[in-house]
Amino acid sequence: MIKELFEKIKGASYCSALTGAGVSTLSGIRDFRGKNGLYNDPALSMDAEKIFDIGYFVKDPSLYYKAAASFIYDLDDKEASVVHIVLAELEKRGYLKAIITQNIDLLHQKAGSSRVIEIHGSPKVHYCMYCEGVSLPFEEAAAIVKAGGFPLCPKCGKILKPAITFFGENLPALALKEAGEEAQKSDLMLVLGTSLTVFPAASMPEYTLRGGGEIVIVNNMPTHLDGLAVLHYNDLEEVFSGLKDVL
Ligand code: ZN
Repeated sequence: MIKELFEKIKGASYCSALTGAGVSTLSGIRDFRGKNGLYNDPALSMDAEKIFDIGYFVKDPSLYYKAAASFIYDLDDKEASVVHIVLAELEKRGYLKAIITQNIDLLHQKAGSSRVIEIHGSPKVHYCMYCEGVSLPFEEAAAIVKAGGFPLCPKCGKILKPAITFFGENLPALALKEAGEEAQKSDLMLVLGTSLTVFPAASMPEYTLRGGGEIVIVNNMPTHLDGLAVLHYNDLEEVFSGLKDVL
């Protein structure tokens, strides 16, 4: 059955992937809304919804950094999963053109994928909300945060903000436009580890379908597009371990 999937991927002329929290949790990253998700963690120093709330960030950005130090800035301690690794390999071989991701953990990049469109923003850049032209790469920000500090603007001295989209902010317009274009021109989209409940991510496979393309869904929960998927699997780790073997 994995062979069938690999044949589909090889036969596609433009294959893209949409990845959600299920891909991250394989790397031991906690999702936000799941059973053991950050939003349900009583041990967390603050209500997790507030960590990514722009209103709270503007009032006191140190709270975000204190809370996020252990799950955004510990990339060195995180391992790319078999899904990240196989997707990167598929891109190298020319089978996969783009990854559209809802995740903010930089693991696709760590695995070696180059065309990654982050529609919920990304911590790969930190910028000043008050000064134009200030930007600090993830690695430098992470070193400061892990040492217990805060990345500061060299111009005004205020704490920088990661380019992750917070609640109360607009999604990155350019990334969304690119993602929509990739989805539309895909004749095959792999929908991985997302229950398609959060828009506009959930629209991406619909763009592919509307453009006459096919979708494959791998997710451990039902989605509203299951009936339209040409192939459907539950277990991401099993499917991608299988793909790794036939690659
Ligand atoms: Zn500044």
